[in-house]
Amino acid sequence: MRVEQEIRDIFYHTRELLMAYQEIGLGPPPLPASSLELPGPDKSGLSQIPEHSSATGPHRGRSASLKDLREDLGDCRRCKLHRGRKNLVFGEGSSSADLVFVGEGPGHDEDLAGRPFVGESGKLLTRIIENAMGLTREDVYICNVVKCHPPKNRDPETDEIEACLPFLKRQLQIINPRVICCLGRVACQTLIRRDFSVTRERGAWHEFTGIPLMPTFHPAYLLRNPSAKRETWEDIKMIMKRMGLEVKTNG
Ligand code: SF4
Repeated sequence: MRVEQEIRDIFYHTRELLMAYQEIGLGPPPLPASSLELPGPDKSGLSQIPEHSSATGPHRGRSASLKDLREDLGDCRRCKLHRGRKNLVFGEGSSSADLVFVGEGPGHDEDLAGRPFVGESGKLLTRIIENAMGLTREDVYICNVVKCHPPKNRDPETDEIEACLPFLKRQLQIINPRVICCLGRVACQTLIRRDFSVTRERGAWHEFTGIPLMPTFHPAYLLRNPSAKRETWEDIKMIMKRMGLEVKTNG
């Protein structure tokens, strides 16, 4: 059984690696010379591999993959947003997080810090994570649709989103969370559909590549419209219930 699991692991990670290279527009990775020395598979055992194996579980052996992806991104100049950035903001948190928050792009404070959601919006998101959900920022993963600060905080443009989206998709594939929480219009229109309205359509489950996705307001919107915090709390409660977290009645 252990050998079968290892074979499934090898297939699983090879497929992930090939998909990653394909999505960022590269050919297959070069094979290390040492791999040519490996013995061939025992074909008699392959037919006995079960359809579903715990070896392909969601977080097994994945902590290095986010690092690999960050290395692939490098000093990225795939879109014009690289020109004005101080720091590329890749994302931070647990590589095996059950919950991933996706915002639209780094703001001024995040650009300076090289970290996501550290300004006023970030402080509000941190309060939601810590005070409302009873988690820490280290328990979850926080990232954005684009990794570089759009000038004057404008919305990221279509070509910029298209250039950066493969990296967000890879982050989500690697982490494979139980829930994605989409923060604000840009993230929702990127991961759900182009004409999605957060105001009209939040509060219901969607999905992205099979992962349940809850749309809600961006913390920056909540700072401008504090009355919308109540609706956001309803969305957060739905996420907590799905994750099996205890929901406090007073929010
Ligand atoms: S926004 Fe994304 S694609 Fe554009 S330069 Fe930054 S990391 Fe590269």
